[in-house]
Amino acid sequence: MIMKAYINEIFTSIQGEGSLVGLPFIFVRFAECNLRCPYCDTKFSWERSEFCYFGEEQLENPISIDKFIEIISSLPFNYLSFTGGEPLLNSEFIEEAIEKIDKKIFIETNGTLYEKLSSKLLDRVSFWSMDIKLPSLIKEDLFDTHINFINNLKKMKGELIIKAIFSTETEEEELFKVYKIATDFYKVNERVKLIFQPFTQNGEIKLSKKQLDIIYLIMKSQNFEIRLIPQIHKILSLP
Ligand code: SF4
Repeated sequence: MIMKAYINEIFTSIQGEGSLVGLPFIFVRFAECNLRCPYCDTKFSWERSEFCYFGEEQLENPISIDKFIEIISSLPFNYLSFTGGEPLLNSEFIEEAIEKIDKKIFIETNGTLYEKLSSKLLDRVSFWSMDIKLPSLIKEDLFDTHINFINNLKKMKGELIIKAIFSTETEEEELFKVYKIATDFYKVNERVKLIFQPFTQNGEIKLSKKQLDIIYLIMKSQNFEIRLIPQIHKILSLP
């Protein structure tokens, strides 16, 4: 059977988040997500679309793996981000595609589908960008699920970028909990970075003085890389 996937769009842009911010990337946005974050800025990706938008082209969904590999191989940049939606809902498609694509693979995941973390992915993916969804933003506690996910990443060969988006509603305990999760991972695998990302709404960055002080305090006590970076693509009005 030919492997196929529903993809909402394929485009090139500048990475606007995390530790690779500013680099040119190819983005592949898969359709569908297993979460419904209230602040989601890609709600259109929750559903399957009839077409995959690729520049001026509209490709009929689902896209075959051969067509997908042909498209990606024709694009210039070296970094390929699988995003969504939740890309790990298409983990088998990704596994097969990246065997034949010569690019640095970046997976942007909501950090919940730990059963999808196969040894093929753990060996081949260069960067895992994993969100920790905070209860103050999604009104649900996913900490245990995230801990399960991260435990399954410990044997990865790439690098883990843990990203926590926080708002002015976020409690101090949540920020410390994120720090603890990253620290526990670091004790087993040192290839981890932690990004605190203040919520950006209508181009405005939401961050309180108290939160800034807490993050600064966390930074003082750490021995791995922790950064505070807003979403750059929103400030620059990039896709
Ligand atoms: S996990 Fe990402 S794509 Fe899914 S609802 Fe949350 S923000 Fe949107």
